[in-house]
Amino acid sequence: MQSPEETFHGHAPILLVLPRDHAMDVQEQSVTDRLHPLFASPDGDVVLSARGGQTFFRVHTYTLKTTSGFFRAMYSLPQSKSPVDDIIYLDEDAEVLEPLLRMVSGLELPPLTDCDLIEKILFVAEKYEMPGPISTLRLLASTQDLLNNPLRLYAFACRHGWEEEAKLASKQTLKLDLFDPCHQETLQQLPSKALLDLLNLRHRRREQLRSRLDTTPFVSGATANCVRCDSVIEYHTWRELKYKIVLEMDRRPQGDTVLDPGLNDWPEAKACWRAKCNKKDCVRLLYDKGETFRVIRQCIEELPSTV
Ligand SMILES: [Zn+2]
Repeated sequence: MQSPEETFHGHAPILLVLPRDHAMDVQEQSVTDRLHPLFASPDGDVVLSARGGQTFFRVHTYTLKTTSGFFRAMYSLPQSKSPVDDIIYLDEDAEVLEPLLRMVSGLELPPLTDCDLIEKILFVAEKYEMPGPISTLRLLASTQDLLNNPLRLYAFACRHGWEEEAKLASKQTLKLDLFDPCHQETLQQLPSKALLDLLNLRHRRREQLRSRLDTTPFVSGATANCVRCDSVIEYHTWRELKYKIVLEMDRRPQGDTVLDPGLNDWPEAKACWRAKCNKKDCVRLLYDKGETFRVIRQCIEELPSTV
């Protein structure tokens, strides 16, 4: 457990408290002009400055002390003078501070859909030890917009140690082709264990399906004899379809496209459903399309689906 002083000093380089009489470069009028309208109440007793004095936020030290471990520790240090009217210069931009201060002040939060912005706010909430905003952002991170971007959500969840969200997101990534250049940047940012877990999940799905397709009720692919007329039968059409299925699982491990359009439309599938015993007066169909479809779907549903 860190003492408040340790916590404070651990973060000290990013924060500078200037009593008003020492901050001559910041004129009082200029602060008033640049106060954010939602944080301009004269009741507030401290002013937070966004990076470079671009925007000021007048807030209550009570709010900061009750919602931030960082500010609680800072205000517990002996004060040389009353902190009233101090300006605290922070290192963050107003676009990050504003939603964070809205959250701790119980104000309405505008929709946050930009993944980069959510991550920036989260980073600052962690820096200032604000559990309330962290939990809000965690909820936000699981909402639809990020679910539409499951690889980003996975990277996000892994970086912050959110196991459940990482599992949920890993399942959603199965519909992605990770070799598509549009994913390269996100993949490069993944910690190596997270990347390995994701690749292993995809590998396990492909290999388990491959091995299931080699066991009963599927034919082995070796030459056999027709059950009706005993003439020799070649199963090369099934071997080719299996190969195609495995290739498709590499591209899209979710497996949905194997079932549709795959087993309906692929030339390799159509060749299977047409295949018959070669003997003229037998012409038995070699494969049962309906049953093959049902068993392959069941096999895909049974594959591991999360890291
Ligand atoms: Zn036959």
